[in-house]
Amino acid sequence: MLFLNNAVALAPEVGAKNAKNLNSLGIQTIEDLLYYFPFRYEDFSSQKKIIDVQPGETITVRGKVLDIKSIPLRGRKNLTEIYVQDETASIKAVWFNFAMPLRFLSKGKYVQLSGKISIYKGKETYFQHPNFELINKTLYENSEQILTSKTGSTSGLAPVYSENRNITSYFLRRVIRKTLPQVSLEEFLPNNFIQEQKLPFFSKALQNIHFPKNQTVATLAKKRFAFEKMFLIQLRALEIKKQWENNTAVKIAFDEKIIKNFVDSLPFQLTNAQKKTSWQIIQDLKKNKPMNRLLEGDVGSGKTIVAVMAILSTLNQGFQVSLLAPTEVLAIQHYSGIQELLKKYKFKIGLLTGSLSKINDKKISKTKFSEKIKTGEVDLIIGTHAIIQDKISFYNLALAIIDEQHRFGVKQRSFLQQNTLKNSTKNNKKILPHLLTMTATPIPRTLSLAIFGNLDLSIIDEYPKGKKKIITKVIPPQGRDQIYQFIQQQVAKAKQVFVICPLVEESSKISEVRSAKKEFEKLQKQVFPNFSLGLLHGKMKPKEKGIIMENFKNKKIDILISTSVVEVGIDIPNATSMLIEGAERFGLAQLHQFRGRVGRGQDQSYCFLFTSDNVANSTARLKAMEKTNDGFKIAEEDLKLRGPGQFLGTLQSGTPDIAMESLSDVKLIQSARLYAQSLLVYDPDLKNFTLLKNKSDLLSEKIHFE
Ligand code: ADP
Ligand code: MG
Repeated sequence: MLFLNNAVALAPEVGAKNAKNLNSLGIQTIEDLLYYFPFRYEDFSSQKKIIDVQPGETITVRGKVLDIKSIPLRGRKNLTEIYVQDETASIKAVWFNFAMPLRFLSKGKYVQLSGKISIYKGKETYFQHPNFELINKTLYENSEQILTSKTGSTSGLAPVYSENRNITSYFLRRVIRKTLPQVSLEEFLPNNFIQEQKLPFFSKALQNIHFPKNQTVATLAKKRFAFEKMFLIQLRALEIKKQWENNTAVKIAFDEKIIKNFVDSLPFQLTNAQKKTSWQIIQDLKKNKPMNRLLEGDVGSGKTIVAVMAILSTLNQGFQVSLLAPTEVLAIQHYSGIQELLKKYKFKIGLLTGSLSKINDKKISKTKFSEKIKTGEVDLIIGTHAIIQDKISFYNLALAIIDEQHRFGVKQRSFLQQNTLKNSTKNNKKILPHLLTMTATPIPRTLSLAIFGNLDLSIIDEYPKGKKKIITKVIPPQGRDQIYQFIQQQVAKAKQVFVICPLVEESSKISEVRSAKKEFEKLQKQVFPNFSLGLLHGKMKPKEKGIIMENFKNKKIDILISTSVVEVGIDIPNATSMLIEGAERFGLAQLHQFRGRVGRGQDQSYCFLFTSDNVANSTARLKAMEKTNDGFKIAEEDLKLRGPGQFLGTLQSGTPDIAMESLSDVKLIQSARLYAQSLLVYDPDLKNFTLLKNKSDLLSEKIHFE
């Protein structure tokens, strides 16, 4: 008897050497092996007599081995050749550099061959690299009977696995086929869920995902594993959420007067979505358990104001707040913007980044700065990673905000959270700050639930009134001159322009810088010699970047050529046009993010998507950008076109494949969530579900939550 957590070396046919090769595919245990699912199946269900086979078809025949040999070819290569005969005719099969048949087959044995029929010189039909399987005489004589032999693998649908040099689908089929019946496979999902969802039980599902009789049972098996994974993810997320909420936080009372006063002083009316989300946050802050909320809103939807209301509430009660931004440019922008918004309140606001350290615009050494954080002499700390270093500890941090969360890697984010937490342990009492994370990546709600299942969600799904639609056009190479003329006119009207350089193939920072520099020189010399151009890229020193941004803001620069560093929220209302080079290289969601840099002022704004040659089908994809300005719609489109894996990119690299695939299945995510919730209500510690509890605990080692 084998168990799921046994090492894969214990599986039949797997020795130390194979085990090592399997390890390199990420297969360590028997469970990993059985969860190594095929990505497609080959249909070998149609059987024929040899005389009837036709070139081009994929079929199965059975026969007796007439001859088998290995033919050496040039360069240490070889061909394995076999002749097989049934009562009607004989046929040849060949394998190139594949000696496995020699190990299993010999003259007089019976074999089943499945695969595609090729034709040689227009007359001789033969099998090229078929699947083969040793069968016995009885099976051969009962040719009518569809094969379901114990060792068999090529009958019906044959699983095709992702292979490497040493591990073939053929090998995996044999091993999995032999392993399955020996493993103790106890169902661990609650029975009633399985029955209600009409899913196959564990052992059946494993059988059917590897060796299905038909596509229907394969699909159902797949659905079960997708549900299983999503259910476990949700269960884990809810457990983490519960643990988080077991901690204590300080209550931030809601001072209606001061907030109302602040809102009244704004030059605009809050949108309903801003009101709703800030209300949700303020309600969370009033509780003595820490908030953990994701504020999701498209670029330009006005997240900053919502955050500032939370900041103001907290500072007003005498507590510290930190605001973490992914880049220095963004940190500086938040610093000056928020300072302006809060100037009448006399708070001490500091900026701390890799190269900058100041409080209320007075420069101060970093050591002094961290002392003041410790003694509470600075109230609001805005900065980059510099504010979450080990040596920094807060006096009474009650609210930690992370902006543009998607710009931080998964690891960085968890590091960041842990540090925030560590830093806030005061007098040995574990008091956590409320945590507010903001993202401008509009992710459809259900998808957010799947990825950020442990967070509460606030979504700003509305734009400030009067926000004009950005006119977007996909421009083929021949349209370039016309657009440059248009840009001339815009700059002549004192408007400013962004030029985004394309993603460089090798995606190294250096080559990206090089291409931006080249573009800059070309535009300055050949296209816009009379205008002032600026260049911004990731290799510049923060100080240089700051100067460029400042000059752009002060309109000393007309056209800013940039690599993707400007992707995050810079606010230049006078910039009304954006040119994006090599637009087809970017995902829609990312293009949308870029586009959000314009359209921030009162004037009509434009976004031109330049494409390289020969990209007709990606042009079709880009057309979605012309149609809508709604980030959530674009996200959905992107999700549909590129699939969740591509769409999410590094957002959630830890999520297993099958769960990834299921991310487009809204119903499945919702029901997995509901089942997980209901189970935890019924049995909060999963006392009656120990197997499930183990699975969920194991999963936590593999998956990162925010
Ligand atoms: P993001 O959600 O991308 O962070 P910001 O908070 O930077 O967006 O807001 C974008 C711009 O919209 C800012 O200039 C801000 O002052 C302005 N803004 C925010 N809320 C409103 C509103 N309700 N009405 C008009 N303008 C607003
Ligand atoms: Mg922002």
